[in-house]
Amino acid sequence: MSRLCLILFGSPGSGKGTQAKFLRQTLEVAHISTGDMLRARVESGDSLGREVAGLMQAGSLVPDATVNRLVEDRIEQADCEHGFILDGYPRTVDQARLLKGLLESKQVNPLVVHLKVDYNVIVARLSGRRLCPTCGALYSVTSASPAAAEVCDYDGSKLMVREDDREEVVLERLRAYERQTAPVLDYFRGVGYPFLEIDGDGQPQAIAGQIAKFVEGREKIGNAKV
Ligand SMILES: [Zn+2]
Repeated sequence: MSRLCLILFGSPGSGKGTQAKFLRQTLEVAHISTGDMLRARVESGDSLGREVAGLMQAGSLVPDATVNRLVEDRIEQADCEHGFILDGYPRTVDQARLLKGLLESKQVNPLVVHLKVDYNVIVARLSGRRLCPTCGALYSVTSASPAAAEVCDYDGSKLMVREDDREEVVLERLRAYERQTAPVLDYFRGVGYPFLEIDGDGQPQAIAGQIAKFVEGREKIGNAKV
């Protein structure tokens, strides 16, 4: 049976991480988040890990070729036997090109899912998040609101907005995503990868169900071809 590579795209706040967690269970594949992968490699303390640690400490971007080497190693691990979900990667067209070569050499079948959420919804979602500076509890003014407005349920501390969730910062993160990622999506469309665009503003479990259906449908087509 062929291995699956599900490339999950979505802006900050689109619920990509939540979807990856649902789909990892439904599809029985590994979830590879770039951030987690980099941290794990740094912790391993091997030579590549030390190289990455140095770059991160200097505030430099990890070069595309290095990220790809990490991904190449990561997908050889046992939990990727049936396939894997890529979350936060590839981020640039160069990374996407390198990934395409890698997948071809390993005979892995790629599928692309784009979780689309209106930016106004994202700004409302993220700027509605509140953090307790004392215990770290997270709240949302819309869904998981504290019992008393702007006060932590556990310790009564006044809640705050994280720097990353301030409206101006959210808008800048969305602009950066648009600049970097729109060309990657065009690239994958251009090379003919199966592509699903899905409305990410809905019940997370229902969205995961739609994505799983798409994946299972494509796998049937793929197997019929062989
Ligand atoms: Zn608290």
